[in-house]
Amino acid sequence: MDTILTIKGLSHYFEGLRAISDFNLDLKEGELLGIIGPNGSGKTTFFNILTGIYRPTQGSIIFRNKEISGSEPHEITSMGIGRTFQNIRLFNRLSVIDNVRTAFNANTGYSLIEALFHIGRYRKEEKRITERSIELLKKFDIAQYAMTSANNLSYGIQRRLEIVRALATNPVLLLLDEPACGMNQGEIKELLDLILWIKKEFSLTIILIEHQMSLVMGLCERLTVLDFGVTIAEGLPYEVRNNPKVLAAYLGDDINQ
Ligand code: ADP
Ligand code: MG
Repeated sequence: MDTILTIKGLSHYFEGLRAISDFNLDLKEGELLGIIGPNGSGKTTFFNILTGIYRPTQGSIIFRNKEISGSEPHEITSMGIGRTFQNIRLFNRLSVIDNVRTAFNANTGYSLIEALFHIGRYRKEEKRITERSIELLKKFDIAQYAMTSANNLSYGIQRRLEIVRALATNPVLLLLDEPACGMNQGEIKELLDLILWIKKEFSLTIILIEHQMSLVMGLCERLTVLDFGVTIAEGLPYEVRNNPKVLAAYLGDDINQ
């Protein structure tokens, strides 16, 4: 299997606070890696660095044989890294279909000014984007909500729409940040099946940050555990789950929840 992502010695500090420290990773194409760890252990910071929101204090990130640290978020999106957010980020007042169309637009590669000068090409492109958006919504069984505004959707459907938006940017690597947050057990089971399905359907490599152990254990082939920004364990899910360092890090939290 080819390596898709190599991270070496990645560290990030916020005004002296060590958010992530000497993080290393070798991710193969088609893998489903889980990152777990208590609140504040640096998981989201890692995604924010990987997607160009923060520039790392130190270290290198090679994605598909190219150094990407220092690139802008939109450049990283168009290189093939898509993500969802721990706190859902949708355009609440826009309809479901417009939420998906804006995600496609983020990747069309031309500005509004260009669009105005090339109105013909723009119209054609817009028509294609609308068709592809509907196609995606159908695949995810949410086409019936196309005209509903995002803030009128149930939580579970909003999370699903976030994944659709991430896929509209045509990623090869998908980053999911606590996608089960706020879901009940039934929704979590559906999400598990959905993640397995999208991985296959869209030929994805996935990194999943998650608190929900049932989801992590059911899905991930490999786990990395962070605590205070430091990697304290790595390996197969069942090995990691029984690792004394991991159990200690979760002290007070129930790792089996
Ligand atoms: P996790 O996702 O594992 O819960 P985070 O990556 O969000 O953890 O946060 C790691 C640490 O970095 C926490 O102590 C958090 O308070 C801090 N942190 C995160 N983002 C910022 C920021 N923009 N400015 C300052 N501190 C931050
Ligand atoms: Mg987080």
